[in-house]
Amino acid sequence: MRGVKTRMLAGAVVGLVGALACFGTEGDEKKGATVEAEVKIDPIYRKYEGKVALTEDEWKARLTPEQYRVLRRAGTEPAFCGGFWDFHNKGIFVCAGCGAPLFPSGKKFDSGTGWPSFTQPVVKGAVVERKDTSHGVDRTEVVCARCEGHLGHVFPDGPPPTGLRYCMNSVSMAFVPQSKLKELGYTEVPTE
Ligand SMILES: [Zn+2]
Repeated sequence: MRGVKTRMLAGAVVGLVGALACFGTEGDEKKGATVEAEVKIDPIYRKYEGKVALTEDEWKARLTPEQYRVLRRAGTEPAFCGGFWDFHNKGIFVCAGCGAPLFPSGKKFDSGTGWPSFTQPVVKGAVVERKDTSHGVDRTEVVCARCEGHLGHVFPDGPPPTGLRYCMNSVSMAFVPQSKLKELGYTEVPTE
């Protein structure tokens, strides 16, 4: 009984945060061009092979405060506030921390949750799943396989063919449009 109450409370808190107005700098101008340009400025993807492991100070210098809060402190952005929940361009979503390819636009679907949602990652092994029991709720956390940055959670209530819903934070990702894939070195990555 107590567990149920805790779960209900956790749900209510999440709902309340989502209902608040979007705070920070995520406005309409954040959609599209600005979001797409961020990766071009800093293609850390090219500089690292394998794992990316930076110190806390290096991450703080590299990320915006909101990116740091979500990626390195497992935070959650408010629903309907990020740059990608209502974003339908063709390309790939990459990790905002290290540039690793995460999700193709072809696997994105409208979940109605206010967070960008996908049925599967770009390749098996692009993300790592971990058990998460924070806030009194059993969930499966999803982190970037390369830098272990927090991306969101995966739930078993998605559409076919996987039945999975990778519920991601927009701020944890950057977008590389199809026209820029070659230029930025993502030629092997499928967008479908
Ligand atoms: Zn990463």
